[in-house]
Amino acid sequence: MPAASTSSISIPELRDHFDGRVTAPADPGYDQARKVFYGKWDRRPAAVIRPTSAAEVAQVVGLARDGGLELAVRSGGHSLAGHSASDGGIVLDLSAMTDLEVDRRSGTAWAQTGLTAGAYSKAVGADGLATGFGDTGSVGIGGLTLGGGVGFLVRKHGLTIDNLLAAELVTAAGRVLQVDDEHHPDLFWAIRGGGANFGVATRLRFRLHELPGIVGGMLLLPADAGVIEGFVAAATAAPEELSAIANIMVAPPMPFLPPEAHGKLILMALMAYAGDAAAGERALAPFRALAEPLADMLQPMPYAGLFEPAEDMEVTEESARSLFMDTVDAAAAANVVERLQASTAPMAVAQLRALGGAMARVPATATAFAHRDRRIMASVGAVYDQAADKPVHDAWADDFAAALRQGDPGVYVNFLADEGPGRVREAYPGTTWDRLVEVKRRWDPGNLFRRNQNIPPASEAYEK
Ligand SMILES: Cc1cc2nc3c(=O)[nH]c(=O)nc-3n(C[C@H](O)[C@H](O)[C@H](O)COP(=O)(O)OP(=O)(O)OC[C@H]3O[C@@H](n4cnc5c(N)ncnc54)[C@H](O)[C@@H]3O)c2cc1C
Repeated sequence: MPAASTSSISIPELRDHFDGRVTAPADPGYDQARKVFYGKWDRRPAAVIRPTSAAEVAQVVGLARDGGLELAVRSGGHSLAGHSASDGGIVLDLSAMTDLEVDRRSGTAWAQTGLTAGAYSKAVGADGLATGFGDTGSVGIGGLTLGGGVGFLVRKHGLTIDNLLAAELVTAAGRVLQVDDEHHPDLFWAIRGGGANFGVATRLRFRLHELPGIVGGMLLLPADAGVIEGFVAAATAAPEELSAIANIMVAPPMPFLPPEAHGKLILMALMAYAGDAAAGERALAPFRALAEPLADMLQPMPYAGLFEPAEDMEVTEESARSLFMDTVDAAAAANVVERLQASTAPMAVAQLRALGGAMARVPATATAFAHRDRRIMASVGAVYDQAADKPVHDAWADDFAAALRQGDPGVYVNFLADEGPGRVREAYPGTTWDRLVEVKRRWDPGNLFRRNQNIPPASEAYEK
């Protein structure tokens, strides 16, 4: 393994060692190799290295640790806070690690963490199987799973971590461990919600569910306060087979919308009923009855069909805030309407996700994701082009989130932007934080894994 120092790494030696799977600033493919989902995280690493095995991952970890270099780990590159990008450090890019071993007999799959949610779902979906991830196919299973994973099967089968049976983890010391309920249970507890703080997950073993098809897709309704309140009430009261995500926004000129709806407030729902088609139609009826749909694309389809088309939009600047709620009453719904209409951004969205069901049945202390009793996850966001407009849109997002907030503060770590240590602390309420700090101290006392929503090992970490 080539030596590294704080000031330099030898790119030719690295190339030799990693068989050319190294991209450095002078290389033609550099801009593509350093690119992440959010264009604003325009960082320039010293090298992007694409390992192909856990042993190689351990070597990259050692290189960063011994050379004092910043280490950014990247699975799907969708970090809202830009954590899988680095200025001057090493990006450990897992995209070459996409093996998937399905064991039908045990109903489980070992997946390497370079896979995206869409690629995994498509592959296992060919056999009528599924594991729940999020709502977007291009998100990496690495970052999504380690933070929790809230998706279309959350009410039926729980969070992604509730279906995680084991992980292969490369620690800060460069050890390759299998962690599960029997082996290193402290680490296994911590990585289920504690994010990227404890090592590089190279493989994840998931439970697979038989899911020959779903009834779902997109439903577009004209939005007013009554429709918003009614939608959330129906989504929280629906059978657990149904998970629903409501995106409320001023309608852009989408091709499947009638022209008269453009510029008006709409509710774009993404829905999935994971079960029998006739029961699915019955479960979806209350949503269709809320208002005359502007477009109704709910239909029987394969689960993986929810992730098509797979192409990504370009997001430059975004001001987003996320929180948990317990109810969306008339006042909250009116607030959503008013705040969205007041935004001066080219695009402003409020997202409401109904939780509960299987996710809520897991005890709060069983994993590092502790917000098990919250009924609704809300996110507000403004998307715009100019970084100079950030203060205005940040203030809008802060005020909007404050107006919606109910009960204890709390946030889902994977929906945190770059919002400072106080907000990271809100992701881990009560004793969850203390336990995470203990695990961090034990396994990463030097805080090598700090390009993340960081849980510092230092004693100050105990202070709010
Ligand atoms: C368009 C969009 C839609 C989304 N929808 C959902 C959703 O429906 N449900 C949901 O739960 N979340 C959703 N998210 C949030 C998503 O879960 C997080 O952004 C997640 O961190 C992205 O994972 P990634 O691997 O793509 O990102 P990356 O940027 O690659 O990684 C995110 C963080 O995890 C670390 N990391 C990544 N892989 C590993 C690994 N193998 N080992 C250790 N650390 C690792 C990175 O260093 C970084 O700190 C969405 C995000 C976007 C941008």
